Amino acid sequence: MTKTRTRFAPSPTGFIHLGNIRSALYPWAFSRATGGDFILRIEDTDLERSTQASVDVILEGMAWLGLDYDEGPFYQMQRMERYKEVLQELIAAGQVYPCYMSMTELDALREQQMANKEKPRYDGTWRPEPGKTLPAIPAGVAPVLRFKNPQGGVVAWDDKVKGHIEISNDELDDLVIARSAQSGEAVGTPTYNFCVVVDDLDMAITHVIRGDDHVNNTPRQINIFKALGKEPPVYAHLPTVLNEQGEKMSKRSGAKAVTQYRDEGYLPDAMVNYLARLGWSHGDDEIFSREQFVSWFNLDHLGRSAAQFDEAKLRWVNAQHMKVMADESLAELLSDQLQKRGITHDDRLTALCGLFKDRCDTTVMLADWVAKFYTEVTPDPDELAQHVTDAVRPALALLAEKLSTCVWEKAAISAVLKEVLSAQGLKMPQLAMPVRVLVMGTAQTPSLDAVLALSSREKILELLQKA
Ligand code: GLU
Repeated sequence: MTKTRTRFAPSPTGFIHLGNIRSALYPWAFSRATGGDFILRIEDTDLERSTQASVDVILEGMAWLGLDYDEGPFYQMQRMERYKEVLQELIAAGQVYPCYMSMTELDALREQQMANKEKPRYDGTWRPEPGKTLPAIPAGVAPVLRFKNPQGGVVAWDDKVKGHIEISNDELDDLVIARSAQSGEAVGTPTYNFCVVVDDLDMAITHVIRGDDHVNNTPRQINIFKALGKEPPVYAHLPTVLNEQGEKMSKRSGAKAVTQYRDEGYLPDAMVNYLARLGWSHGDDEIFSREQFVSWFNLDHLGRSAAQFDEAKLRWVNAQHMKVMADESLAELLSDQLQKRGITHDDRLTALCGLFKDRCDTTVMLADWVAKFYTEVTPDPDELAQHVTDAVRPALALLAEKLSTCVWEKAAISAVLKEVLSAQGLKMPQLAMPVRVLVMGTAQTPSLDAVLALSSREKILELLQKA
């Protein structure tokens, strides 16, 4: 069997968002699941809209998500000579013809077709046919090249997502395959659909997995494959990803760059998990590892309808992954984040991650908790007034006294807390709440003995004595 070869072919225009990167995840997973290759190709022929910054976000986003590629990145702008070479083959095979129709003539044609309620299309004026006399070639006009689309019959393919699709060739006009040649050029710049076909051929792509905004290009691309005497790859066109408002996800409608989720504290494995479910399923499984995803992935369980992004669900998925992540690994991530905040940490970090990870949706939230152990905490004045009252101050003083001499570990601290409660006739919350507010700035924390054991004794004594 031939080796599977898939590709991700983003256009570096605007910042790559979750909807785009899902079109990288599936071909990546399919190649990994089948022991194949995954190729990255940057489709940068739109010179006005392509930017290096956008390429950088693509590369960074893929690296962050662990979507490693076996070949590339290839840049279409660097392959122009190759496209022209293949174009010459098509010219030699008589599959292409020059068209001298001017913009004004094309506009007039379109208007007339619209007035007749017909679909606007090129009418084949310059298509050579046996026995047909072509118009006189106008002077000083550099022609575009058009592809001789087959006439009659259908283009059909079995889409792995959408099922059998059939388009009548008569629906397709003769595509401009190269722009007008500039002076000194043998042929003009080849156009998009042609470049994609040459790339998919040269890169020996077996499966094209891409967004369904390209369904309309597919019959044209298949006809070009055939004209070159080649078989097209298998196609799987993924339904759109909608944003939370139910519109197509786009930068214009507020979609964030993929890398922003990294900065907001999402784990790559959680993102992969969430994105995987956005258009694919494995039974009812919601939470799975990268390894499980890759071992389960195939093209038979891709969803047919548009998937809707849901940030609350993404947070939940992230929280599930944080819960099972090793404390040491979280500590490594946190170490970078704390450093960026200018906070120096110590060997308590791993235990702190273990203590707080269950109550966090993101690693940024976890860093917020952990940072309290390395910085001065300013309690909320209302909480202070509510919990740290004159009634409790004697208990706080006694607690400080007893904590100054006990062994500094959870069990001993727990015993001290109980001694103070019974000495002062208080219930646990009456003592624990004020201490939490003083130490952590809030009354909602994990169990107090664990929090205290991970704090420094000096700091706790100082806070209690000042209270
Ligand atoms: N460059 C196209 C895009 O970003 C993808 C083309 C393809 O996958 O064939 O939408």
